[in-house]
Amino acid sequence: MSHQITKPAKSVTSAAAKDVAPALDFGHAWDYAPAPEGTDHVKIQPRYELFIGGKWRAPKSGKYFQTISPSTEQVLSEVAEGNAADVDLAVKAARQAYDKVWSKMKGAERAKYIFRISRAIQEKARELAIVESMDGGKPIKESRDVDVPLAAAHFFYHGGWADKLDYAFHGRRHRPLGVAGQVIPWNFPLLMAAWKLAPALACGNTVVLKPAETTPLTALLLAQIIEEAELPPGVVNIVTGAGETGAAVVAHPDINKIAFTGSTAVGKRIQRAIAGTNKRLTLELGGKAANIVFADAPIDQAVEGIINGIYFNQGHVCCAGSRLLVEESIHDVIVRKLKDRLQTLRVGDPLDKNTDVGAINSKMQLDRIKALVAAGEEEGAERFSAPCALPQKGFWFPPTFFTGASQSSRIAREEIFGPVLTVLTFRTPDEALEKANNTMYGLSAGIWTDKGAKIFWMATRLQAGVVWGNTFNKFDPSSPFGGYKESGFGREGGRQGLSAYVELE
Ligand code: NAD
Repeated sequence: MSHQITKPAKSVTSAAAKDVAPALDFGHAWDYAPAPEGTDHVKIQPRYELFIGGKWRAPKSGKYFQTISPSTEQVLSEVAEGNAADVDLAVKAARQAYDKVWSKMKGAERAKYIFRISRAIQEKARELAIVESMDGGKPIKESRDVDVPLAAAHFFYHGGWADKLDYAFHGRRHRPLGVAGQVIPWNFPLLMAAWKLAPALACGNTVVLKPAETTPLTALLLAQIIEEAELPPGVVNIVTGAGETGAAVVAHPDINKIAFTGSTAVGKRIQRAIAGTNKRLTLELGGKAANIVFADAPIDQAVEGIINGIYFNQGHVCCAGSRLLVEESIHDVIVRKLKDRLQTLRVGDPLDKNTDVGAINSKMQLDRIKALVAAGEEEGAERFSAPCALPQKGFWFPPTFFTGASQSSRIAREEIFGPVLTVLTFRTPDEALEKANNTMYGLSAGIWTDKGAKIFWMATRLQAGVVWGNTFNKFDPSSPFGGYKESGFGREGGRQGLSAYVELE
């Protein structure tokens, strides 16, 4: 594999200059020519209303908020700010659609609608990928090759279950729960909408979905797809807004189930808010995954897995391998290879097909990353940041890793949600296990070794919902995903994910 080198630009902003490590002289370096994805055919409306009961409605408050491109700070559109009255209208529409149409419809009929949505996602894949990258800052490579195909796959997979639910629960009788309130984060806006909507609809529930305030656009394009697929009005309602709108969904008395993906802090708030009600709840929360590399691992593949695990999506992945645990004997070689590889990562325009690392999703998130990185430096860890040029506009952070950090340091314990890795060491499998499990989180982990037996030994003892062996960040709709400990509970995907949307007798 040959990697091109992004040369440090001659001018960097003064704020960014602080975040740039000295350039290494690679001698043979050259740049790729820019290869931006064309945006001519992409239609972003200047304003989006709420999608309630199959109609686009202005918010009761009359208020709108702007959604910007984090890579250019350009305003992309203004989006309706839904309040409790709008949520109430959406829940009423969802209840009516549930009672009168969706819960009574045969599974095979529901499947037709769900398959229609998946096909439309495939047909509009290019537009969806571009808007995802514009609104969220992630590289087009990721939105085009991961987010959008996986979103379509989730609808296909769950559409397939809609008429086979009798076989999903080992003969137990099942019925839908009713109206589901779903609240999703900004890191995989379309994919998280698909993870939530597809199983709910397949099982016969209707939905009120609240997208994240910094990335509402692809959920709204999905609403257009749902409209074009002619789903009965009210089966899916999309109410945009910030935390207060999400809280109104959670608090609504006529909602039967809450599905939330987001931070652990908000997840706990939701748990408290619905305590004492009979609402069902699934929580997909934060993570601090350990990526564990043994000395017998194929080193170059492991380094690629580490890079994929933390940098390709700016670290904006709940299951990002943000703690690297390496066997002590290979620490130096891994660190040297990581330094080399970091310098070949291309940071910049999310719409450029060559970009590996895009923009940080928001100024707030960038400030949080900077604060945690500063804490790492203050606590005495050694920092290395790729010597890449950061664009003048937008929110950026260079791919970075720390060595010499202690297990108790903030960078080793807290979710950074940015392109920042903390390298720790171990000497024995037991020590690796103890360090990997020494966290309040438990979403995912990775193991790199030549020995299958070691993978199984570790995987059965790691307190993580997903464990990858000699790979990282791989997803499939048939494979359940979810957390241990403060990473949440409940599973999404597979048969286990379906059971979160049915009552079993
Ligand atoms: P967040 O918790 O700040 O927000 C998530 C969503 O909740 C947003 O739509 C937000 O508007 C809404 N919200 C905020 N306050 C609310 C309240 N009081 N009641 C109801 N809704 C409220 O998280 P974020 O910053 O958007 O996303 C990043 C977090 O999500 C990270 O911690 C990440 O690990 C986690 N995440 C987890 C998974 C998973 O599958 N476990 C997947 C993606 C992201």
